[in-house]
Amino acid sequence: MSMNVACSQPGCANPVIGQCMGYGGNCGRFYCAIHSVHGLCPDCAKRKLEDEIREDYLQTSQQIPKGVALSGPAVTAGLVVFICALAAVTIWAIGAGTLWVWILCALAWVAYTVLMAWLGASQKKREKALVAEIDRAKPGFSQFYVAWKKKRNKEATAVALGIAAAAVVGAVAAAVGSSQEDDIRRIREKVDRL
Ligand SMILES: [Zn+2]
Ligand SMILES: [Zn+2]
Repeated sequence: MSMNVACSQPGCANPVIGQCMGYGGNCGRFYCAIHSVHGLCPDCAKRKLEDEIREDYLQTSQQIPKGVALSGPAVTAGLVVFICALAAVTIWAIGAGTLWVWILCALAWVAYTVLMAWLGASQKKREKALVAEIDRAKPGFSQFYVAWKKKRNKEATAVALGIAAAAVVGAVAAAVGSSQEDDIRRIREKVDRL
């Protein structure tokens, strides 16, 4: 302990109360009561917070529904197609003429296509609204989600998280604010909430 035992925060003269236990490696920097978060120096606390936000965003992304849910409109679409197909088969069975069968089949196909397109669009709209809503509580989430979604079907989830790192850093910046005293208080609050 012959080295300079002072808080690692530049210019801080507060009494040292402990030594950083490190996050994802050794650290050993000293800290005062203000510049510490659960036994971590501000740097390590920030890295821990980044990891926690990334994990939180990843889990949130996974919870957002993917496909078209079996909702009322989806059931209606299926029913319409079924009735059209049934009518086509009936007409064919009673021998009313092949032309009518073709017309009904075409109608069923058109109805199916239009309804599926509409369902897909409304699903996308709901997804967008949901992501925007989450983004208000979790800064940079929409950016993260877009990156994650692009890579979701590939094995390179880590790459997606790398791309999304900018969003996470933005979230951390938003969480910690501008002044350094504020930094620590907000990191501490954020970590407590996690
Ligand atoms: Zn300090
Ligand atoms: Zn540290």
